[in-house]
Amino acid sequence: MIIFGTKGYLHQLAILTLVCAQCGNPSAHTLRKRVTKFTLFFVPLFPVSTKYATQCTFCGAEQKVTEEQAEQLQAQSLGGGQEYGQRQQQQPYRP
Ligand SMILES: [Zn+2]
Repeated sequence: MIIFGTKGYLHQLAILTLVCAQCGNPSAHTLRKRVTKFTLFFVPLFPVSTKYATQCTFCGAEQKVTEEQAEQLQAQSLGGGQEYGQRQQQQPYRP
């Protein structure tokens, strides 16, 4: 008898300050990576799917992002955080 299935792993990659598309607040967002792995006899063998998403800590809205976007966001959180903030402030405010 062969026992197989999948197992999900959730990794928190970074915490970013973003303007939420759902509630419009400049709040902290967690950047998450969700990896689903194929398991055989409960041993994870290889990833079946990898998905990235950001979640607003203010309203809890989750937004899916591509791997490229996730890498850019992660790079911003590591080094370019201040630069990103300045760019946000330069945008004209439209109520
Ligand atoms: Zn929100």
